[in-house]
Amino acid sequence: MQPKTSPLEISARFIKGVGPKKFEVLNRLGIFNISDLIYYFPRRYEDRSNLKPISAVKTGDFETIKGRVLALGKRRTRKSMIIFQLAVGDHSGVIYATWFNQPYMEKRFKKGDEVIISGKVELYKRRELLVVDYEILTEDNQDTIHTARIVPVYPLIQDLNQRAVRIIMKNVLDKYVQYLKDTLPLDIRKKYKLFNLQNAVKNIHFPASFNYYDKSRERLVFEEFFLLQMALAARKYHTKQAAVGIKHSVKKELIGSFEQLLSFKLTEAQKKVIVEVENDMKSPRPMNRLVQGDVGSGKTAVAVYALLLTIQNGYQGAIMVPTEVLAEQHYINFSQLLVSLNINLGLLINGLNQKMRQKTLSELSSGKIDIIIGTHSLIQEKVEYKNLGLVIIDEQHKFGVSQRGLLKEKGLVPDCLIMTATPIPRTLALTLYGDLDISVIDEMPRGKKPIATYWVSSSRRGSVYQFIKEQLMKKKQAYVVYPMIEESEKLQVESAVKSKRYLEENVFKGFSVGLIHGRMKAGEKGRVLLDFRDKKIDLLVATTVIEVGIDISNASIMLVENAERFGLAQLHQLRGRVGRGSSASYCVLISDVKASEASQRLKAMISTADGFQIAESDLEIRGPGEFFGTRQHGLPELKIANLTKDLRLLELSQREAFDRIKDDPALSKPQNSALRDKLNSSFPGLKLEDDNRAAG
Ligand code: ADP
Ligand code: MG
Repeated sequence: MQPKTSPLEISARFIKGVGPKKFEVLNRLGIFNISDLIYYFPRRYEDRSNLKPISAVKTGDFETIKGRVLALGKRRTRKSMIIFQLAVGDHSGVIYATWFNQPYMEKRFKKGDEVIISGKVELYKRRELLVVDYEILTEDNQDTIHTARIVPVYPLIQDLNQRAVRIIMKNVLDKYVQYLKDTLPLDIRKKYKLFNLQNAVKNIHFPASFNYYDKSRERLVFEEFFLLQMALAARKYHTKQAAVGIKHSVKKELIGSFEQLLSFKLTEAQKKVIVEVENDMKSPRPMNRLVQGDVGSGKTAVAVYALLLTIQNGYQGAIMVPTEVLAEQHYINFSQLLVSLNINLGLLINGLNQKMRQKTLSELSSGKIDIIIGTHSLIQEKVEYKNLGLVIIDEQHKFGVSQRGLLKEKGLVPDCLIMTATPIPRTLALTLYGDLDISVIDEMPRGKKPIATYWVSSSRRGSVYQFIKEQLMKKKQAYVVYPMIEESEKLQVESAVKSKRYLEENVFKGFSVGLIHGRMKAGEKGRVLLDFRDKKIDLLVATTVIEVGIDISNASIMLVENAERFGLAQLHQLRGRVGRGSSASYCVLISDVKASEASQRLKAMISTADGFQIAESDLEIRGPGEFFGTRQHGLPELKIANLTKDLRLLELSQREAFDRIKDDPALSKPQNSALRDKLNSSFPGLKLEDDNRAAG
């Protein structure tokens, strides 16, 4: 049956108060139909509900009064400002309400009008009310919008004012709220005593009281999270149930021989996670596991173990990383680590020449390559695998979430391991990774010393250089990182190239200074990394390409120029490039920034080395949208829920959602059918069907 179009889909153009011009402005805000309008929520509220007798208003305060217009008029000041004033009186007294430079106001009022006026009280020759908003009451309309209530303030752009939007909203709500269908199941609404949808929507725009506002917001936040968690729960359930994945079998000796390859003993945390991964891989269901572990916690070892396991079972493994530098590093390190095992590695990055690329592609499809290491080149269409058994995504926080699915489609149903170094706050983890099983490496390899972090002004750069020299004399190595230049990698590279020349010809004469940046050809970056690792380079000048994953344990000091230009998570990642060996390490942030958001970031950096704490601060300072930097992060766009504040509701909604899917996986019970339709329309990929057989 074709569903009737809902009145909520009617164009906003047809609302009273919306002309062609306003419609065009609304479009710029992403508002096209009635429903868009209804879900365009206020940014904040002003309490103008407390009407005061005129004699009781206080100078300096924001007040709202009600009275009758006794007189009106305008005049021009000596400075050529036009002042329009009403004399308004009630039973207690008279006050002048003042507008500046709005002569047209005169036409809107007449003597005898009953008005409500909100504004700030100032004392000039007499007390005046500097008008912020007003309302004229008529016999048949005593229902105020702009005054005498808690008034919504909308996020606006140019060409649209609060009054206009409030009037439009009021019209829309009065007429269309009745068509909103509540899809939040009744049992949940009852259990948590949540407002019904219509009530919540009305009161989120025009709250009857702050208590009503709180209840309305709670309801809408819950629902927003709940729908999201339902989608995650359904996805998780159906990947687990329906798909038949690869059942790896484990030969006993693998872990033993693996440990022999390593130059260190695995930490208990690494062992625990390896067991979790192994259990997933042994099961016939596809693995979907996220491994979280702070920078330097040793995630690579877990990855290598999983790769060996899939190869041992006759499959290919793929590991996808966000940067070419990291791909080259993994390639070099894996080659050396696995040299005794007769395993074929391949490298697939953008800069490869045509011939190499063709060779790699054909060896991948013929099955000659056992492990392929690459950037997002790996998910390009032309790449074919013979029998992909395991996909690993390293440093996943640098990819968008959508990339996650794509590589998987290359194999039948390969196992999937996702590794993320940026510990992310729990709210984000629940929203982003709710459909994954999670392992945490919560222990750092022993013997690592904390990194001493300093924030200094550029005037002290000279003494920092001196300190770096002392490190170099001790046969340690250093990074100097050049700042991000928003939107232009080219400029960033240029500044790094110039500085490299300056440093090697002046400050660090006699030392070997190297350079690494994103515009080098394939292979070149790997060579520089090798030279750095083999200590042929003492000091490496770098752009942000070294931000994630780079692992040179003898590097003991890092200097970051213009540190204020980096995000907090990014600084934490960068800092993680040192402190990987057993000697004392340093990170010096150079920045002249004064009080600002950037200085909060730098303060957080010098106060803790704990990635989770850093992540929490970052979320607080920047909010979730910015948390992952400018790159696509895959976070859903939240209309009202706040990932910094609403953890409790998020956790509740998650529990309810997962329970519900467990109880009714395809949502085919009658009480869930409205919810199912809502989910299918909000998450087109989900395709929950009203058919018990399809649910499997
Ligand atoms: P990350 O979790 O940041 O990816 P890596 O896997 O690159 O960390 O490991 C960081 C460094 O620590 C590497 O040099 C690695 O060889 C070393 N390492 C990993 N596990 C251990 C361990 N159990 N004991 C000592 N060193 C380890
Ligand atoms: Mg890593």
